[in-house]
Amino acid sequence: MLETIKIAISPPIQVGGSLFTAEQLTTIGAVAGANVTIEMTPFGQLYMEVPLDEQEPIAEKLEQAGLEVYPAGFVTKSLIACNFCKGAEEAGLDVAKTLNASIAGIITPTPIKIGYAGCALGTSEPLLKDISVVKMRNTYDIFVGGEPKGLKASLAELLIAGLQEEQLVPIIMALIYYYNEHAKGKEKFKKFIHRVSLEHLQQLIAE
Ligand code: SF4
Repeated sequence: MLETIKIAISPPIQVGGSLFTAEQLTTIGAVAGANVTIEMTPFGQLYMEVPLDEQEPIAEKLEQAGLEVYPAGFVTKSLIACNFCKGAEEAGLDVAKTLNASIAGIITPTPIKIGYAGCALGTSEPLLKDISVVKMRNTYDIFVGGEPKGLKASLAELLIAGLQEEQLVPIIMALIYYYNEHAKGKEKFKKFIHRVSLEHLQQLIAE
């Protein structure tokens, strides 16, 4: 039987949001082959099963078309960013791109969604993500522990405010690795945050 693997396809982080060009969709259709279904996930990635031995050439073709390819499953998803409606500079497009390049696709005990909003209006729903960055006027705030699913859905809480852009990647990487090391089995990120406590994480990132 043909061995397959699921890949996650994302458009680049850009002004306008999750936009695919017609050429990119054509490329996805061409590499998908017959009888392959493509799933639109709620976190903005397309999931597609590809033959295991064709994974690399397929990923190359998709990347040549300007798309990004990540692992699917129990990993950090690509950054769920806003539309940058205030413009690339004002909303921090480059910061979001740097963040995405650093944090997407890391293996984690459960899938982790990381959000970004270019202003406090937060139209990308940052408080519903496991970790999120919100750009304030000239600084950034990080929130943790949002949970949109289930009857115990809840909003993320402020972890730290007033950060400079160069502080974002080290802090978020530290949170991900701390979760990877200390989660109990497949403990959800929100549950993990509550168990170790927000105050403990605040001390951890202050060190
Ligand atoms: S979060 Fe702010 S900058 Fe980003 S799309 Fe929404 S309103 Fe525009």
